Amino acid sequence: MGKYKKATEPVKVRLKKNDLVEVTTGKEQGKTGKVLKVFREKNKVLIEKVNMIKRHTRPSPTTGQGGIVEKEAPVFVCKVKLICPKCATGTRIRMTQTGEGKKARVCLKCKELIDG
Ligand SMILES: [Zn+2]
Repeated sequence: MGKYKKATEPVKVRLKKNDLVEVTTGKEQGKTGKVLKVFREKNKVLIEKVNMIKRHTRPSPTTGQGGIVEKEAPVFVCKVKLICPKCATGTRIRMTQTGEGKKARVCLKCKELIDG
C-alpha cells in the first residue's frame, strides 16, 4: 500500500435524480440537463444529453444490426451545480433540517427550500 489513502469516503452527493444541473467546467461547460442517475459511490452523475460518448455495438438478433450509438457518460459531481427550481440559476446548496426533522436542501441564493 502506498502512502496515499484510497478515497473510500464518499463525498456528499447532494444531487438527486431528475434535478436540473449545469456543467461548470470542462468541455461540456455551460450545458444543462436532467440528472438521470446518481452514482454515489463514484461521486458521479449521469446527465441527460451531456458528455455523450460513442459506443460501438455488435449486431444482435434482437436489434438487427450493430453500429454506433451515442450515450451519456457519467460526470463528476464537482463539475456540476444544481439549477435551483425556484430562482432558476445555477447555485450552491446546503442541507438544512425541516420542522419535521427531515433533511432538505436549501438554495444559497434565494434561500428557498428545494425539496421538503
Ligand atoms: Zn434559488
